[in-house]
Amino acid sequence: MSSPPGRRARLSSPGTSRQTPDAREEVRHRLKDLIEGNRVMIFSKSYCPHSTRVKELFSSLGVDYNILELDQVDDGASVQEVLTEISNQKTVPNIFVNKVHVGGCDRTFQAHKNGLLQKLLQEDSAHDYDLIVIGGGSGGLSCAKEAANLGKKVMVLDFVVPSPRGSSWGWALSVWSRGQGREARVLTLLASSSGRPHMVDATVLGLTLAPCPFSWPLLLLTLGLGGTCVNVGCIPKKLMHQAALLGQALQDSRKFGWEYNQQVRHNWEAMTEAIQNHISSLNWSYRLTLREKGVAYVNSYGEFVELHKIKATNKKGQETFYTASKFVIATGERPRYLGIQGDKEYCITSDDLFSLRYCPGRTLVVGASYVGLECAGFLAGLGLDVTVMVRSVLLRGFDQEMAEKVGSYLEQHGVKFQRKFTPVSVQQVEKGSPGKLKVVAKSTAGPETVEEVYNTVLLAIGRESCTRKIGLEKIGVKINEKTGKIPVNDVEQTNVPHVYAIGDVLEGKPELTPVAIQAGKLLARRLFGASLEKCDYINVPTTVFTPLEYGCCGLSEEKAIEVYKKENLEVYHTLFWPLEWTVAGRDNNTCYAKIICNKFDNERVVGFHLLGPNAGEITQGFAAAMKCGLTKQLLNDTIGIHPTCGEVFTTLEITKSSGLDITQKGC
Ligand code: FAD
Ligand code: NDP
Repeated sequence: MSSPPGRRARLSSPGTSRQTPDAREEVRHRLKDLIEGNRVMIFSKSYCPHSTRVKELFSSLGVDYNILELDQVDDGASVQEVLTEISNQKTVPNIFVNKVHVGGCDRTFQAHKNGLLQKLLQEDSAHDYDLIVIGGGSGGLSCAKEAANLGKKVMVLDFVVPSPRGSSWGWALSVWSRGQGREARVLTLLASSSGRPHMVDATVLGLTLAPCPFSWPLLLLTLGLGGTCVNVGCIPKKLMHQAALLGQALQDSRKFGWEYNQQVRHNWEAMTEAIQNHISSLNWSYRLTLREKGVAYVNSYGEFVELHKIKATNKKGQETFYTASKFVIATGERPRYLGIQGDKEYCITSDDLFSLRYCPGRTLVVGASYVGLECAGFLAGLGLDVTVMVRSVLLRGFDQEMAEKVGSYLEQHGVKFQRKFTPVSVQQVEKGSPGKLKVVAKSTAGPETVEEVYNTVLLAIGRESCTRKIGLEKIGVKINEKTGKIPVNDVEQTNVPHVYAIGDVLEGKPELTPVAIQAGKLLARRLFGASLEKCDYINVPTTVFTPLEYGCCGLSEEKAIEVYKKENLEVYHTLFWPLEWTVAGRDNNTCYAKIICNKFDNERVVGFHLLGPNAGEITQGFAAAMKCGLTKQLLNDTIGIHPTCGEVFTTLEITKSSGLDITQKGC
């Protein structure tokens, strides 16, 4: 800021000229400490607009800085005078990065523009690492890899605390050996967390491995890398969903002329083994990618002990300490328990299901959201007797018309629903694999109590953030005490400037793998590259992989009414009959498509909903269109691909408000 003449005069005011040499020396020491002790030091004045611009620049880069507001300290004038001697700059803001004097506002912006600022920011050698990421799941790995791509020294800590039933995942013992030419790419998994030894060639696993650098075989142990999605979430879930869909396809195939006499049975053990083998290969390839990118991977539990220091405790209880200039918390969530008699002892959760060594048999699923309905769907599809215990509504937060349609389809396909009940105790009545469990449940609507015996009780009642045992209180990172979630600003920064958070631990953000991945990647680019791009959490598409998939993007009808008011919306909808279902003789009035449009914004699509086969695949494309501002007219102008399910959105004509019949009479 150019100082007006009057102000400049005051800098050498009688107050400052009266300073003794000792006092002056003392100020010099204080300034030296500030400049040397802070990565970014801004000398500013609180009312100065140029200082504000500079602070905003550093905030947008996600860089924490220290400020001394010269107009708010008693000896501000003396400080400014000494500062002038040190930097040869009389005005504020006066900025130092990693002990280097950058200059004022214009010079800082110039340095940002030509990349010098980013270079200076990177020259921070005070800590062991530039970045430590706690949690090696979807978000953590994405952030760590991107930071390493940008030349940073990065460490990832990942540790799986076994579930109360003892499940832990992702370990694989492999041999990496040398062959000839392309044959050099050979990896053999000897054993994995599935518990069964197996030998699989890397080429079968689809891995692209660098040739083994040694002439002798290398034995490698890979541990639980990849987090929830890979080990106990999206991946095994979608593969089990696929196993169930194949069962349906087998039934349909007879109508298409396939004849077979053998009795068709499903083998749970064979399915889980194949899925676990695939997971082991993913664990291994993640490990390899980290190695290739030079990211240090430590299989230990991370916990903050000081602002820039964490304690890493391994399986044997050995503690090691590491420091970093920045931290990213990406510790995810773990399944919640009911807190009733017998829950931790006898019930399983999604953390146990996908590697269960035996077929679960007659199963009670408690909870009716994503996890509950998806698991109920594939278990029933595999031929099991499944009941879902619903405390209140299906798929809370989703469009309730769609949620009920998901429920009806599940019901038609054998899933039983016990509505308005919640368990109060679980007792073992017979040991075994599976054994027998007596569940006593209480009505949430009245005094009624029921009891029933199941082989397996699967709890799918939500997830707890892993934020309460990682030392956040020691460094002052705030969490929402009720939910354990971490509030962050729009650059995923917590209230402690050098600590960031991404993924499922975030408050108010969608808990989905691609969201965690995108947030992690963009965060790294902002922290260590020149990027200012923020993660856009609006219009995130998602799919519930129930036997009939439900894909959606944007607002539910209820939410759209709340935001825009019913009279400002037009809802177009239809039932439809996929061609593949016609010959198979499946119901012609089950699949459903709906869009919600804002009448006063050119009929912009604010909600997209689809219940039908492959809804996940279809919704993905329409989500991109919604990002581009999709309107009803644009859908009308789009020529469909025939015969597909997706084309239904190009021919939607009936509005809900018209009340016209949407049932399908024929093809
Ligand atoms: P995570 O992937 O959970 O990773 C966190 C990691 O940190 C874990 O490995 C954990 O062990 C580790 N950790 C925790 N504390 C510490 C510590 N102190 N020190 C070291 N390591 C620690 N999303 C989708 O998009 N599509 C789906 O189809 C889908 N299906 C799902 C199915 C199920 C059954 C579940 C449970 C979830 C599903 N999700 C799905 C959600 C998705 O898995 C999560 O949104 C995603 O994994 C979140 O990534 P994250 O990086 O935040 O955490
Ligand atoms: P949710 O928090 O979404 O749902 C929990 C369910 O359990 C609700 O139906 C809730 O009922 C019920 N519940 C809670 N407490 C009790 C209780 N004491 N007794 C009986 N029922 C209870 O958790 P999920 O585990 O299903 O999903 C977690 C997250 O994982 C999701 O938000 C999603 O982002 C992600 N995920 C994504 C998937 C995908 O993309 N396909 C698949 C699976 C998970 P109520 O409504 O009454 O509160």
